Amino acid sequence: MLSEWYNNGLAEAYILFRQTQPESLEVEEVKDEFEKLIKNGEKFEQFLDENKDVPLNNIKIQTERDGKTFDNVKWLFSLSSSTRRIIAKRGIWEGIGFRVVNKTKNCSICGSSGTKLNTALLFPFDRKVLNYYCGLDEGANRLRLCSLCQRICFYSFGNIFYSKSNDRVTIFFPNSDNYEKIAKLSTRLKQIRIQSIEKVWPFCNIRPEGIAAYYPSEFLLSILFALYRWSNEKEDKEILNVLEEVNIELVSYAAGRGLAIYDSYETLTKLDDIFRIFTQFEEKIILLKKSQELKEKEPLSPTVVFNWFFNSLTIEGKDYEAKNRLREDWTKTLLKKHKIDFITLNEVVMDNIKTKGYAYRFISFYNLMIKSILEGLNMVNEMKVFEHVNAIGYGLGKEAENLMGKSAQSALWDIFRTRTASDFVDALVKVQIKLRMSLDLREIEANKSRWREIRAILLNGMANALFRGGKKDVKSD
Ligand SMILES: [Zn+2]
Repeated sequence: MLSEWYNNGLAEAYILFRQTQPESLEVEEVKDEFEKLIKNGEKFEQFLDENKDVPLNNIKIQTERDGKTFDNVKWLFSLSSSTRRIIAKRGIWEGIGFRVVNKTKNCSICGSSGTKLNTALLFPFDRKVLNYYCGLDEGANRLRLCSLCQRICFYSFGNIFYSKSNDRVTIFFPNSDNYEKIAKLSTRLKQIRIQSIEKVWPFCNIRPEGIAAYYPSEFLLSILFALYRWSNEKEDKEILNVLEEVNIELVSYAAGRGLAIYDSYETLTKLDDIFRIFTQFEEKIILLKKSQELKEKEPLSPTVVFNWFFNSLTIEGKDYEAKNRLREDWTKTLLKKHKIDFITLNEVVMDNIKTKGYAYRFISFYNLMIKSILEGLNMVNEMKVFEHVNAIGYGLGKEAENLMGKSAQSALWDIFRTRTASDFVDALVKVQIKLRMSLDLREIEANKSRWREIRAILLNGMANALFRGGKKDVKSD
């Protein structure tokens, strides 16, 4: 975490440095100048001193509520594990505590001697540093950084993206060993950052439109989609190259009794694959739009379709923590493992059927999104399995509805309740006999080892037929 923090701060300094350079300079020339500055420690420290208000302004947003002015900095710092608070009257450097000097100790980052004990909290990083570097003898459980490294790390305040939902704060920031690459993603993300703070969402500097996210992965996926849409609009040809080389660090806290509880910290890689999924998704919507235009319907926007799909993944619950839990599980698997978690999708469906009955409407644009993911990730064999099993499920659902009417739901639950692979196949055979239809179960037999997943795909297909709310799920191809 320490190097991520440092690299991110360095990238922010680079972004600011670029703005001070004449436009006539080539990118490489600017970089050379910056490298020269880094090498001259004293001058670099001076540069960081001169611009220190800029990084803090990323989170220091004054907002009026009930006639009172809120300062986000205080709020952010208050979520840290430390009981110390930043004191507004002091300057920034004093505020973050550069007070205790130890001439003999070495800097935890660069190793140079003459360090300052970081006595104040450095949200959002200090707690995680403790978690990851607990073996380090850092005196009073704090890091020791030289004054230059402290300043560089401080600059990452200008390069984080954060949101608050109920008691949870989520932060993400781009990371790479190369500050230039971080700067490339950061400057793009800053374009979709909230420019002036909104009264309703005072504690966010970036947030998805039309989606109430609570957990970190669901928040990040929605933001990545917004970034995708933005880069598409700008015809940003470089975005995929940038995403191939930059990671995202995702940190999430839940606050309780004045303490922040770290419960999520992830490094996400291969973000370009996620963008490839979005590309497939958008292409399918363009096709769909064309067929819709023929029928003179309202044209669909990718954001609207994405939000419909994503908002269909919530369940009943008293708060976002409960409602969004399964959506978070599903999204996390997609972001981290680049896989579709069919079992969780089925849990979403079955839970909604249980609580809403026939008022429930199946996941919007289910087929379209599943196929976009499988195509985006180039999973040809998985596509075959999905199409085959999904079709069996859909056919079963249609037939059950025709023959059994509303009691068709019982067939769905019978299959859902099976406990072993052979139980599952037996249940299918029984339903088959009941409905007097013959099913091609070869694909199911061949995938017996992952029968729970196969069952989930089949049940989703079936539920799609039974709970489509009077409309067929939209075919995308
Ligand atoms: Zn240092």
